[in-house]
Amino acid sequence: MKYLGNKVGNGLALGKVYIIDTKIPELKEVKLTSNEEITKEKEDLKLVVENVCKDYEELEAEATSDDIRELCNFYKILLSSNSLITSMEEVIDEEKCDKLTAITKVMKRKAEELSLVDNAYLKERSKDIEDVTNKLIRKGLGIKEIDLSKLSEDTILVAESIPPSVLLSNNLGYVKGIVAEIGGKTSHVAILASTLGIPSVFGIKEVSKTLTDGELIYVNGNEGYIENNLTDTKISEIKEKIKKEELLKASLVDMKDKPSLTKDNKSLLITANAGDLSELDRLLEVNSDGIGLFRTEFLFLNRSVEPEEDYLFNVYKTFAEKLNGKQLIIRTLDIGGDKKCPYIDIKDEQNPFLGYRAIRYCLDNKEFFKVSLRAILRASHYGNVMIMYPMISSLEEVYKANEILDEAKRELASKNIPFDENIKVGIMVEVPSTAVMADMLIDEVDFFSIGTNDLIQYTVAVDRLNPTVSNLYSFYNPGVIRLIKKTIDSAKDKKDKFVGMCGEMAADPLAIILLVGLGLQEFSVNASMVLKVKKLISMIDSKKAVLIANKALTLKTAKEVEAYLDGEAKKIYGKYY
Ligand code: PEP
Ligand code: MG
Repeated sequence: MKYLGNKVGNGLALGKVYIIDTKIPELKEVKLTSNEEITKEKEDLKLVVENVCKDYEELEAEATSDDIRELCNFYKILLSSNSLITSMEEVIDEEKCDKLTAITKVMKRKAEELSLVDNAYLKERSKDIEDVTNKLIRKGLGIKEIDLSKLSEDTILVAESIPPSVLLSNNLGYVKGIVAEIGGKTSHVAILASTLGIPSVFGIKEVSKTLTDGELIYVNGNEGYIENNLTDTKISEIKEKIKKEELLKASLVDMKDKPSLTKDNKSLLITANAGDLSELDRLLEVNSDGIGLFRTEFLFLNRSVEPEEDYLFNVYKTFAEKLNGKQLIIRTLDIGGDKKCPYIDIKDEQNPFLGYRAIRYCLDNKEFFKVSLRAILRASHYGNVMIMYPMISSLEEVYKANEILDEAKRELASKNIPFDENIKVGIMVEVPSTAVMADMLIDEVDFFSIGTNDLIQYTVAVDRLNPTVSNLYSFYNPGVIRLIKKTIDSAKDKKDKFVGMCGEMAADPLAIILLVGLGLQEFSVNASMVLKVKKLISMIDSKKAVLIANKALTLKTAKEVEAYLDGEAKKIYGKYY
């Protein structure tokens, strides 16, 4: 069975499940009755904190990467601060309680302080505090730490939430993958997993209860899913895939400075999807042809109040300048669906993915929408910026959005604030009605970007987050392919217009052949996939791909399409596939 999650990246892995229970036993507060007990408890407290601090010191000294050193140092500084111990001692004195209660109370306060800070990085650090608290408690109770040195075969760590401290260990040789129910992109554990190159998938609900210790699973960190109940044939296929992935990885180093061309020198754009500043460095490192999708909602989600226009402008300007003339497609807010925001009033809905989402909310909240539009417009003065509206389902929405954009432009012009008057405006094609109407919509916009993550969900009527129906969610569904073809065809003979794709399908090795054949001009993929996609495209002859796409269009089922493309991929990619 396949379980979908959020991809954290780092490749593919096969290994046996090792469920780590990071929970600590329920603690009962113990009341102290004498001054001697109180003095003893405070001494014990000091010892516990000192010992944990020493553990981090040792880990820091042995650390093999800066990320790990930095994290150990963060923990060490936190624990060695006098005010922390003093606060814990005060709790023991005032409440006459045991050291573990004091630790829990003070650390909880600390985590709350950080979680209220309006900053995604510090918010994530509040989870690290939970990790340190648990370590202190385990130390106080004399519970042994998770010992990875005993592992003797390829292992996938599975937990509700993987504490970063687990990855600080030096015994990660057999740890081939990580799977967790919770954990954000900016979480320390995600950063550490990337540093260590461990394939990871997060966000799979109940996974630590669904899987059993010792069962063999496949982790696809690139696409964000895991699979269990593997047949022998499947296992051999996966092993082969992992080998080839390693071979492909080794061949990517020299792709960075090569132009994005097919085998027959047809020029394409391979851009990156981005969400926040932390991704900017990564996509600059791989030298992508710009950004094909800036998911601006991440600037709105990790906060307790609406971001101001200047804040948004500064982020967009930084991106625009750093990209140095390369394209930057900024998508206006795609809120709603599975993305909730405390200060945006979207009521709970029966079908949030079919509800009050993205452009629908923005068109109803004109002044709120204009803040984003002005910020993007202002940034357009500093680079090659384009605007993209998400979840468009009709022409009327484009008319309305453009009217509001015109108002925003007039407002800036009246204040003599510079912006690109000819800024390109495009839409995401992620609703079937939009794909069907593409021939009409193209006259109103400069570009389309096909959002297959949603387009597949809406075309096949399959919730993209629901693992039970994930077998229906396929890039190769003939209905989906027809909609993609219609979208691309509608812009084919239009001068200065282009069609890109920013859904996950753009990074799929089989789909890439089909998409090159259908004439897709821009592939926007995760920064970690840019070089791989560039390499794959460099092996495809675009004329041959047209013939392959034509043949694929005659096939009647997703299975047939996939099998056919798989055969062609073997011929095209050779030893890499
Ligand atoms: C998509 O739907 O394909 C897409 C890129 O948008 P998101 O995944 O942010 O919904
Ligand atoms: Mg989408």
